[in-house]
Amino acid sequence: MSDPSINIFPTEVYAARLEQAQAGAASAGLNGLIIGTGAELAYLTGSWLSTHERLTALVIPVLGTPTIILPSVDRGDLALSAIPDLDIKVRGWVDGENAHNLAIEALDPTGMQMLGVGIGSSITADHLIPIQGLLPVNIRYELAVNVLKELFVSKDDAEITQLRAAGAAIDRVHAQVPGLLTAGRTEREVATDLEALILREHTEVDFIIVGSGPNGANPHHSFSDRVLQTGDIVVLDIGGTFGPGYHSDCTRTYVVGGPDAQSNADFNQLYDALYAAQLAAVAQARPGVTAESVDRAARSVIEAAGYGEQFIHRTGHGIGLSTHEEPFIMAGNDLVLEPGMAFSIEPGIYIDGVHGARIEDIVVITDDGCETLNNQPKELQ
Ligand code: ZN
Ligand code: ZN
Repeated sequence: MSDPSINIFPTEVYAARLEQAQAGAASAGLNGLIIGTGAELAYLTGSWLSTHERLTALVIPVLGTPTIILPSVDRGDLALSAIPDLDIKVRGWVDGENAHNLAIEALDPTGMQMLGVGIGSSITADHLIPIQGLLPVNIRYELAVNVLKELFVSKDDAEITQLRAAGAAIDRVHAQVPGLLTAGRTEREVATDLEALILREHTEVDFIIVGSGPNGANPHHSFSDRVLQTGDIVVLDIGGTFGPGYHSDCTRTYVVGGPDAQSNADFNQLYDALYAAQLAAVAQARPGVTAESVDRAARSVIEAAGYGEQFIHRTGHGIGLSTHEEPFIMAGNDLVLEPGMAFSIEPGIYIDGVHGARIEDIVVITDDGCETLNNQPKELQ
């Protein structure tokens, strides 16, 4: 097995995040946070412990030391995280003990008056309801993500380094795609090759979309047994998990047999509009503007070209330890962009029953604009 420490950040990174979470909970007027397994726990401790029906929770009181409560049988897995090096108490529990009670005790080590608790988004009802039953009625519950949001949404340098490396990794996979798209092969065969290529560059495959011909008109298509034909347009969207759990996500549009094999004149016009829209959104992405203005920048170009009705999804989504998170680049989101925010810019145009096209890059907001983390050519290939 490889050294697990290469998959986590230095301890100081997590220590600082825990401190900020504690301060955030205090300024929100909460007694503390109860965080379940998943991206929030990984963000705070580097641990990807998986959840079971038995409670695993990181309890962060506003005063005092955080405690991780977990089935004793899973304690060994903590070695894969930063927890052994952090100021976190470990409380293993065995059947017969009330794990929910342990969480309440850890939440209130100093006997403060209970006012409110921040609950992690992966704490399921079978744990939340017993926890609520043990706490005073009339206290306030809030999603912990409201406290963590600022931390989560603006990535620090260590995170951006990971996202940049993830972007380069998926770019190396896209560079090999033209060689995979030959007439006579099925989407599924192409996906099988992609799976191996993604795994060579990542720790996990997150998703593979090979949308050829009419399948490209469905943004949620995965892959099928459809046989590729020369001249088919192919929407190819792939992503994987990288390093301590950061994600890649990148789409390019290809033509089986190369761009010259494509004979539909309307499509060239469509693709030019899409390309211009994607560039317009990237140009709009900078500190101080709203998330919805980036969506508007892409959408107005596509509308002007007459394809407004065929751009059927939002322009993008935030990315980090989860593949879809704030900031969502969509109408109605007046969130103001700040340096460190990372998200996709992925306009698409979909002609039902015929074909589709999409161009997707991950960008990170910088002090005066944005950095594009995917750098494969955007032209039809
Ligand atoms: Zn994608
Ligand atoms: Zn995406």
